[in-house]
Amino acid sequence: SVPAAILSALSASARGGVLFKGGAALETLARVDSFAFDKTGTLTTGRQEVVDLACEGDPDIFLARLAGLEAHSEHPIADAIRRAAAARGLKPVPVREARAVPGEGMVGVDDEGVLWAGNARLAARMGARDTPDDRPAPVGGLDRGTQTLVLLGRGARLLGAVTVEDQPRPTARPGLAALRARGVARVAMLTGDRRAVAERIGGDLGIAPSEIHADLRPEDKVRIVAGLTEAGRVAFVGDGVNDAAALARADVGIAMGAAGSEVALQAADVALLSEDLGQLAAAHALARRTARIIR
Ligand code: ADP
Ligand code: MG
Repeated sequence: SVPAAILSALSASARGGVLFKGGAALETLARVDSFAFDKTGTLTTGRQEVVDLACEGDPDIFLARLAGLEAHSEHPIADAIRRAAAARGLKPVPVREARAVPGEGMVGVDDEGVLWAGNARLAARMGARDTPDDRPAPVGGLDRGTQTLVLLGRGARLLGAVTVEDQPRPTARPGLAALRARGVARVAMLTGDRRAVAERIGGDLGIAPSEIHADLRPEDKVRIVAGLTEAGRVAFVGDGVNDAAALARADVGIAMGAAGSEVALQAADVALLSEDLGQLAAAHALARRTARIIR
């Protein structure tokens, strides 16, 4: 049977918006000394805004196509693109057979053929390159700075791109500081986004550059989490479909509950229903106190 101390800790943490799937996860969290975080939708609000657009041809047609493909995605980037199209009064172009390529973007079919939207890795996969020294014409003029670049292409042809940007959650900086104050050995960021974007957000949050891992595919997140577990117990906090495998691999997987994906919630041991990342340090403290009582 579950000790009373654990039951009372589980219900206390639930009141703070931290839902453990069982007593074992609470006991493991007590031993965790490294926290790794996904960026988009986890350390940031996930509320992206379209900042800039560059394309060949009519920008409205371009954006309507992009929005038609992103209509099938639950990614925060997709939401920003749909809102930008709606703000211009555009009707999304119908796209069928749309599917997500986790950590890269979307692929689908419209009445002119295969359409894809995503990052440079997806562009390379589709045969359309996008590297700093090889910037195809429609995108060449776009200043990507520290924003996320979303490329739209048809087969190997690049049609254009938008840049999107979001901001750290207000509770991220104090939440990470609270974890460090508890003596947590490492706080790391694992993101599928570009390094320039990762360093802007990580820098705002006081994450050491050596702890920022960018341009990761879902399987890279798993590999890095596995590497961290060699030095101690690791909690991974994430929200996306692309985080599910890393959530399962970590000693304690913590899914963002309010806006996170169903797949992430299923893979995790803990759901963080609160928007407040400070609840992580509180849950860690509670887990440690409970472990001392039952030992
Ligand atoms: P993070 O790890 O920061 O949460 P993801 O792994 O979800 O980011 O996505 C990694 C990258 O893949 C994004 O930064 C973006 O470039 C691209 N991407 C993912 N989903 C989409 C989408 N629906 N539309 C466009 N780009 C996407
Ligand atoms: Mg995410």
